[in-house]
Amino acid sequence: MAKRLVVLGGGESGVGTAILGKKKGYEVFVSDFGKIKESYKEVLALNKLDWEEGKHTEALILNADVVMKSPGIPDKSPIVKLLKEKGVPVISEIEFASQLITVTTIGITGSNGKTTTTMLTHHLLKQGGLHVGLAGNIGKSFAWQVAENKHDSYVLELSSFQLDGIESYKPHIAVITNISPDHLDRYEYKYELYIAAKFRITMNQTEEDYLIYDADDEVIAKWLEQNTIKAKKIPFSLSGNNKEGIYIENNTILSKIEEEFKMPINELSLEGKHNVKNAMAATAVAQLMRIRKQTIRESLSNFQGVEHRLEKVLKIQNVQYINDSKATNTNATFFALDSMTTPTVWIVGGVDKGNDYDELMQLVNEKVKAIICLGVDNQKIINAFGNVVDVMVETTSMSEAVKVAQRIAEKGDTVLLSPACASFDLFESYEDRGRQFKAAVQNL
Ligand code: ADP
Repeated sequence: MAKRLVVLGGGESGVGTAILGKKKGYEVFVSDFGKIKESYKEVLALNKLDWEEGKHTEALILNADVVMKSPGIPDKSPIVKLLKEKGVPVISEIEFASQLITVTTIGITGSNGKTTTTMLTHHLLKQGGLHVGLAGNIGKSFAWQVAENKHDSYVLELSSFQLDGIESYKPHIAVITNISPDHLDRYEYKYELYIAAKFRITMNQTEEDYLIYDADDEVIAKWLEQNTIKAKKIPFSLSGNNKEGIYIENNTILSKIEEEFKMPINELSLEGKHNVKNAMAATAVAQLMRIRKQTIRESLSNFQGVEHRLEKVLKIQNVQYINDSKATNTNATFFALDSMTTPTVWIVGGVDKGNDYDELMQLVNEKVKAIICLGVDNQKIINAFGNVVDVMVETTSMSEAVKVAQRIAEKGDTVLLSPACASFDLFESYEDRGRQFKAAVQNL
């Protein structure tokens, strides 16, 4: 008899898993407690897949042989608890799909820089001639692409939630970009649980596999001191304290992984120290995948960047407008401010996820001439920086914020949207916030 696969969550990863499951002979049922998008309903209908929305019917779910849970559904939700009590395996899309393939995967996780590093790595490998897919948190789901048999290898962006749902999955090459507190509400407010979730990326790796990581990151360094892993370690380092793996000397990236590689930092297309780290991580992967040095260098210098991440929008009257809407925590904003080379009008605010603004104090003092608060509740920002910055204005819409910024900015300045906060008080998502920013700038 066919095994029963129940998919919880009818979004991108859920629909992809349902299609893959059906193709592999499972009896499939999709259940979403919320609403399923019309476009996905059409796909489900086209593939003759059964589904429900607005409820979880226990009789149709608890009889599953295996359940794929969308990463957005927390473990503490009643249906997941029930399934676990009954001993039904609850896994992630990545686990389900990876069990069905033998091709190489590269898994990239971290608190910040996942998308940028994943896209950059994919770019390097693709330019190097590999038939490589891009998936995980990005674009078309991994399971869906596996169902279509599309690629010989995959670069996967993996969130901690996706890693929570793996059992046997192992990337041949794993990357941890950095670790700083985020999403603690899903980890009982215990930082160590979130850190442990990130390191699940290496738990099934063997001596044949690789873990690439930021050696300057104290949280990562400490975890690696206290735990043993099987994978070969490849550190990257900006500080130059660590001259193993890949590191910086005289403003040049130096690596001896597989073969010697050199590239001056000023030839990278992406700006900012954080992007030098992302470039080192991607280069390390490319070298392990035997991409030619010349191709790596060319690809690092022609990569176009990712929308909403330090994205240059327009220069108007010699004022540069930059959209960094994806900066939803202080660590990301730290690197944005760090990379500013002119006086900056900073648009900040939104839903604070427990920010400690102290770590930004020095940079704000040095670079920020005015703060424009854009959130429903700006008190914490006002308290933190009121004495540090002369001009502070509260706004309640993007168009207002951008107009005020234009009034304050002088020739040669930068207007930076880098909110350090989530967007849900005034916007649908960080993408919506970034698009509204770009539209407002274009309308100036
Ligand atoms: P993620 O997918 O992990 O959220 P992104 O690549 O989307 O990461 O970048 C999120 C934010 O963090 C952006 O504001 C970006 O400029 C910043 N950022 C990118 N790489 C890094 C890094 N290595 N360290 C810190 N911040 C980074």
